[in-house]
Amino acid sequence: MGAGPAGSMTARTAAERGLEVLLLERELEVGVPDKCGEYLPSLEEMRRLVPEAVGLEGLFDPPSRCIVNSTKYVKFVFPNDHEVAVPFRGVVVERKLFDKHLANEAARAGAKIATLTKVVDLLEDMKGVRVRDVDGERDIHARIIVAADGAYSLVARRAGLPVSRDPLDYGVGYQYEMVNVDHDPEYVDMFLGEDIAPGTYAWIIPKGDDVANVGTGVRVPYMKPGMGIRDYQRNFVEGNRLSSEKLRRAVPTAVKAGCIPVGGAMERTCVENVLAVGDAAGHTIPTVGGGVPPALICGRIAGEAIARHLNEGEALARFDGTWRSQMGKVLENSLRMRRMSDVAFKNKRVIDIVTRRGWLTEEMVMKFVLCDMDAKMRLMEKTLGLMRRV
Ligand SMILES: Cc1cc2nc3c(=O)[nH]c(=O)nc-3n(C[C@H](O)[C@H](O)[C@H](O)COP(=O)(O)OP(=O)(O)OC[C@H]3O[C@@H](n4cnc5c(N)ncnc54)[C@H](O)[C@@H]3O)c2cc1C
Repeated sequence: MGAGPAGSMTARTAAERGLEVLLLERELEVGVPDKCGEYLPSLEEMRRLVPEAVGLEGLFDPPSRCIVNSTKYVKFVFPNDHEVAVPFRGVVVERKLFDKHLANEAARAGAKIATLTKVVDLLEDMKGVRVRDVDGERDIHARIIVAADGAYSLVARRAGLPVSRDPLDYGVGYQYEMVNVDHDPEYVDMFLGEDIAPGTYAWIIPKGDDVANVGTGVRVPYMKPGMGIRDYQRNFVEGNRLSSEKLRRAVPTAVKAGCIPVGGAMERTCVENVLAVGDAAGHTIPTVGGGVPPALICGRIAGEAIARHLNEGEALARFDGTWRSQMGKVLENSLRMRRMSDVAFKNKRVIDIVTRRGWLTEEMVMKFVLCDMDAKMRLMEKTLGLMRRV
């Protein structure tokens, strides 16, 4: 259930293997409303980021009509104004079109899709779900239920899977799509710092011409008393010295907001005949909140696991081990790095120490982007652990 990237990819993969699949989506239309910066790493970068993942080719080649821009660099702007840009290629997609494309592919493989059909509960025997649609409430029975309903998944919680309730494990993003943005279309900019985006970062993601997604992320427990997410976004757009020049004439044409799991994947993603995948399973890269690539990779693994279970009798729980063997390391490393950022960017004194030590170099930023937890990074992790109280 849930026709986002995770649900559609699971549905497509299972349908391609001859299974009868029903994809339930609460919204009127797949992909609407979209809540996303719409940035995806290129296929080459995905190969570097998740070398263990199998068959990336078929996942990271969105049709050209979904791609609105290609970027070459990611630039980090640190709270002490230090800037580091690293080469990292990506594409910016129109999420509405991309999600629709993924759902279309699922339908072409044979999956049925029911929009405006909200899952309101998991049946007690976990062999189906209760839904509400225009005709009222009814039960739908199924041999396997897939929770692909996004962050803080209702179905995963009802199934007893360990969905985190800790507010620190979630980022909240508030974003405008803006026009009249004066920004280099080859650069994705990320602005870090407690005053700008406590616990996460603010971003400018160029969509081509003078259009960009301009957003702010926060982790609620880190926000200053009396401040809300919209205050941070307003400050970033109007009052931030480093971004305001680019955004001086910018006009919002859309508001997009949503929640992003940044606390790492759930310890268990399968119970009896229920699987969780994508944001519902915490399959999101915690440092940057990027969830579409893991949703696609894990969605395909979920579809394959379900098919092997129903067609060949393999244990469904093998899903857990398979996605961990392909995606587990990058998600774990990224979580460790997010914890390091929590210390490094919280306190100006720590940032100055980190800069003086030469840790904010292109080399280190590249390791951060690629979630490469090598010996240097581990040393930095240890030192930052000691600085927690600085
Ligand atoms: C502001 C913001 C910016 C982001 N920027 C990026 C980015 O640039 N790049 C990136 O990779 N990731 C980004 N993300 C994260 C990304 O959007 C998610 O990780 C990704 O969409 C996860 O896919 P999913 O299929 O697991 O869940 P979703 O895309 O959330 O899909 C879940 C689907 O389930 C449906 N659903 C929910 N509940 C029910 C129900 N009860 N019954 C039926 N249907 C239901 C929803 O309507 C939705 O269609 C961003 C997130 C936010 C909030």
